[in-house]
Amino acid sequence: MSDYTSTALADGAQAPTQLPPRQLWIGGRWRDAAGGATYVSENPVDGSAICEVAAATAADVDDAVRAAQHAFEHSGWKELGGAERGRILFRAADLIEKETQYLSAVETLEVGKLYKDGVFGDIPAVLATFRYYAGFADKLHGSTVQLPDYAGRHRLNYTLREPLGVIGAITPWNNPIVVAGWKIAPALAAGNTVVIKPPEDAALSILRLAEILAEAGVPDGVFNVVPGLGEVAGAALAQHPGLAKLTFTGSPEVGALMPTHAGGQFRKVTLELGGKNPQIVYPDANLDGAMPFIAVGNFLHQGQVCAAGTRVYVHERLVDEVADRLVDHAKQITLGDPYDASVGMGPVINAKQHQRIGGYLGLGVEQGAELLTGGSLVDRPGYYVEPTVFIGSQDQRIAREEIFGPVATIIPFSDADDVLALANDSTFGLNAIIYTEDLHRAQVAARDLRVGNVWINAFGIPDMTTPWGGRAGSGVGRELGPAGIECYTEEKTVQMMF
Ligand code: NAD
Repeated sequence: MSDYTSTALADGAQAPTQLPPRQLWIGGRWRDAAGGATYVSENPVDGSAICEVAAATAADVDDAVRAAQHAFEHSGWKELGGAERGRILFRAADLIEKETQYLSAVETLEVGKLYKDGVFGDIPAVLATFRYYAGFADKLHGSTVQLPDYAGRHRLNYTLREPLGVIGAITPWNNPIVVAGWKIAPALAAGNTVVIKPPEDAALSILRLAEILAEAGVPDGVFNVVPGLGEVAGAALAQHPGLAKLTFTGSPEVGALMPTHAGGQFRKVTLELGGKNPQIVYPDANLDGAMPFIAVGNFLHQGQVCAAGTRVYVHERLVDEVADRLVDHAKQITLGDPYDASVGMGPVINAKQHQRIGGYLGLGVEQGAELLTGGSLVDRPGYYVEPTVFIGSQDQRIAREEIFGPVATIIPFSDADDVLALANDSTFGLNAIIYTEDLHRAQVAARDLRVGNVWINAFGIPDMTTPWGGRAGSGVGRELGPAGIECYTEEKTVQMMF
């Protein structure tokens, strides 16, 4: 992986700003959407057009699901065996690695994600996911249980793990290829076929992945991509009766629309939704260790991270110090060109989200929160937001709703037991981050927080080896780890008497 400085991508190449039009990938070939429908992908740095992307209609989605159904039955993918599927997915990972710069660059272009975060964070995470599940492909198996004799006959009980069929995947823009990889790699490794509807704001890396998978040896029709608008292509995929499973990552509002059945057919559903995650700073916290994580938990990727820890509960003894240090951190963040290695925050995703975040900044002040720094949309081209720190309270909307922007709310607390009740007082339950040097306190918090993931003394990152997912309004089911591939299989029980 070559180093990079300023706006250079590699070998002196400049960051792209415009790209050729992209089509749908169905049945192993590129094609236009029915009627030639397209939409324009925009660069959040200045709102300029990057390229036209085919906008799949319901008819296109139907074609893609049929192609995936045909491939499930006839391509030989599920019969190939785990070792061979794994070999193809290892090859895909090697090809993704070679494309690190292109894939990072298109995500920077479409999303405003820092290029360095793509090269050193996102693409390595995708590689790790593909390699983990490539290695898992030949280790998926059922179990055997020898039962006591019955009516004078021996009994043997065993289970088979079978692929489900066609997996429909709908994914968000904030970490486009990372989140898509959490679904694609295990679904394919287990022998399924996939139709994915990538986010309209960020389809390019997933469209490139289609070519990579084909080059690696994934048969035609096993992997299909139908970019398009959520209410059209996404809704058509979610409601398609041909899916054996629907896996969705996105907002709770849209997640709530995901049907568990369609056309009289029931299917499995996984939902990875939003978060309004607590970071708890106990009075004995080591602030030198904690502060960089508290800051990154609020400002990483402009706060557009489902795991962001934007409810910062701080013990009253430490409030002044934490507030001062978080404000210092926020003030040092340089806003600018996300290709530039010295820049700390790029733009947020689009005009709609820019305005929505602006609304929350106003609301914070209106509802009585004390603004410590930031608080405004930046007056320059593109969708920039000042890193913002409030001191607020539990009842304010900035402390309860997922803003998906760089907005931290510090909430003072006095009782180390009560703070867990405050942290649990949320419609969400994705993750929680706690800072303490007291082992007992850490373990009590880890036990009692109603979330899917607890990070102690660090703002962590989901790892492909262990499950990731939420409770309550943050979702249903788990991705990653063994659970993240088992959920793409059906476990069938066979009992034999002999
Ligand atoms: P979103 O819900 O707006 O869109 C997600 C996907 O759903 C997109 O592909 C979109 O086109 C599609 N969609 C929109 N309307 C649809 C409809 N009516 N029917 C079917 N599909 C439809 O979310 P977003 O803005 O892309 O992503 C941000 C959200 O995702 C945040 O809430 C964030 O917390 C969440 N997220 C969660 C995780 C996690 O692991 N829990 C990871 C990343 C993002």
